[in-house]
Amino acid sequence: MTRKSVKDYIRTIVDFPHEGIMFRDVTTLFADPRGFRMTIDQMLHPFAGEEIDKVVGLEARGFIIGGAIAHQLTLGFVPIRKKGKLPGATLSQAYQLEYGEAVMEIHDDAIQPGERVLVVDDLLATGGTAAAGIRLIERLGGEIVGCSFIIDLPELGGRKVLEDMGMDVHVLCE
Ligand code: IMP
Repeated sequence: MTRKSVKDYIRTIVDFPHEGIMFRDVTTLFADPRGFRMTIDQMLHPFAGEEIDKVVGLEARGFIIGGAIAHQLTLGFVPIRKKGKLPGATLSQAYQLEYGEAVMEIHDDAIQPGERVLVVDDLLATGGTAAAGIRLIERLGGEIVGCSFIIDLPELGGRKVLEDMGMDVHVLCE
C-alpha cells in the first residue's frame, strides 16, 4: 500500500480568488488527521535540536501551523498580521504586491532582542509576505533560525528572495 504524501492532500481550486489563479488549498490537508500530523512533523524535522525561543506565524494559515508547532515544542506563538488587526502597539512593514502595496504588523513587544525565532506559513510565492515578516522580527532584534513552508511556487522566486536575505528555507513540496 502506498501512503499519501503531504502534496497528495493539497487541493487546487481553479480561478480563486480571481480568474486565472490556481489556488493551492491546504484546508484538505489540515482536515486529515494524518495529513496534519505529517505536515507539522515534516515542517519541524530540519530544525530538530536547534535552540528556538518563539514560533512566528504569518496570517492566516500560518496561525494554524504555528500554533501546532509552538505547542509541539512547548514554545510561545506570535502572530504577524495584516495592517489594522493587532490591538496593541505595533511595528509596520510595507511590501510590494503585483498591483500596489500591503502592510504586515507585529506587536512591538512580541519578540525580545536576541530571541531565536522559527517563521512558518503555508505557501511561499514571491516571498514578499515572508520577507516583510522577517524584517519585522529583525527590527525587534530577533534572530531567525529558519523559515518553514508547506508549499513553494518555484517559478515566483520567493525562495531565492529569502535565501538572499540569509535565511535557511525549508519547504515540503513544490
Ligand atoms: P507571497 O507574499 O507572494 O510569497 O505570497 C504568499 C502569501 O500569500 C502567503 O501568506 C500565502 O498564504 C498566500 N498565498 C498566495 N497564493 C496562495 C495559494 O495558492 N494558496 C494559499 N495561499 C496563498
